[in-house]
Amino acid sequence: MLSQLVRGPLLVPHPGGAVDYHPDGVLAADADGVLLYAGSWSGLRCQLGDDVPPVRPADGVMLPPFLDLHTHVPQHPIRGHFVDGVADDAPGGKLLAGLNRNVFPTEAKCHDQAHAERVTRGFAADTLAHGVVGGAAYMTVSAAATEAALNVLPAAWSVGMVLMNQNCPLDLRTNEPALEADHERLAARFGQRVIVTDRFAVAVDSPLRRRAAALAGRLGLRTQTHLNEQMAEKSFVETGLYPNAGSYTDVYRRDGLLAHRCILAHCIQMRPDEWAIVHETGSVVAHCPTSNLLLGSGVMPLDEVLDRGIPYAIATDVGASPTVSLLAEMKRFLTVHAGRSTRATPTEALYRTTLAPAEILGLDGQFGRLAAGRPMSFVEVARAEPAAGVAGGVTADDIIRSLLPADVDRPAAAVRRVTINGKTVSH
Ligand SMILES: [Zn+2]
Repeated sequence: MLSQLVRGPLLVPHPGGAVDYHPDGVLAADADGVLLYAGSWSGLRCQLGDDVPPVRPADGVMLPPFLDLHTHVPQHPIRGHFVDGVADDAPGGKLLAGLNRNVFPTEAKCHDQAHAERVTRGFAADTLAHGVVGGAAYMTVSAAATEAALNVLPAAWSVGMVLMNQNCPLDLRTNEPALEADHERLAARFGQRVIVTDRFAVAVDSPLRRRAAALAGRLGLRTQTHLNEQMAEKSFVETGLYPNAGSYTDVYRRDGLLAHRCILAHCIQMRPDEWAIVHETGSVVAHCPTSNLLLGSGVMPLDEVLDRGIPYAIATDVGASPTVSLLAEMKRFLTVHAGRSTRATPTEALYRTTLAPAEILGLDGQFGRLAAGRPMSFVEVARAEPAAGVAGGVTADDIIRSLLPADVDRPAAAVRRVTINGKTVSH
């Protein structure tokens, strides 16, 4: 039985990346919030006969909710201030200088349980207001803070307790004797929402990484880390810390981290043999255009990833980004790849912030698809500008481009409503 209908412009991504655009579309669901129809209004209208239930006009363009494949919850209060006070020519690069000056002191505050919960609540409210309903996040080295984050965030968020035991402040080092017990306890309570999280090769030594990889295997958890973000970081890893490894990527491979569906953030300063390892191990990439731009890291070679068929999603890497908005991140994706890759289209950006991360996270039964039998979970987004279009009509690329904010650092509140399983959860 049809219970609710919402009519308006509709964007429907499909596996593989194609996006259908229905200028006059409709989502129709039953009382349980399961879609009975998603497509053109005319297609449904002719099935309805004379008995048309009440129809709510959409408050903007309808599309699946967003998922953020790479973000840092404890950095939410300092988003956009990652490299404040850091010189462009900082010794060791802006990444390592920004971590020491701004990020580590902020993360240390999460040893206070009340602070960790407050920060997570702020993150949860801000992401939901921007239509971001889940993803993969880093918390801190604190097991209690990680437990608080998993407890406060909705179930579509996976979270990792960050591992660090070298090249970082003493008060931000993993409690190594408790490593196994902490993960076992978190996994018993939160299951596969727990991600085994190696911060990066600079901050984790091989013995700790090997124990972590073994834990991921034993508990059936996936892994995440950062890889090849900046040249200074890469040379420190390859020549300073791990001179016997074949490459930065090989450090992770030989220690077993890449055997567990690893999410690799950044992947900018990569050699061909490193891309081959990423592909062979079934790892996936979190591509963070804003972070990479603002930290002066470079641009991920998009065509390398696409040509090799490596799964990837577009992510914010808050706090390096000033906003949790994936609409802003989509805009930045188009900007940084302009003139570099012809495949960085608005359609690609939409797929990589909705269905692609859902597929990577195993959430595509809940999010990303708008089709009969799927949950009625979608966002309604106001246009930032009129859709351009030409005489032949407005394409999916045109309409997606019209949704992207003019100011990517302070995007206007464009997500008017978030609906999950047929129920409005943010309005
Ligand atoms: Zn990150």
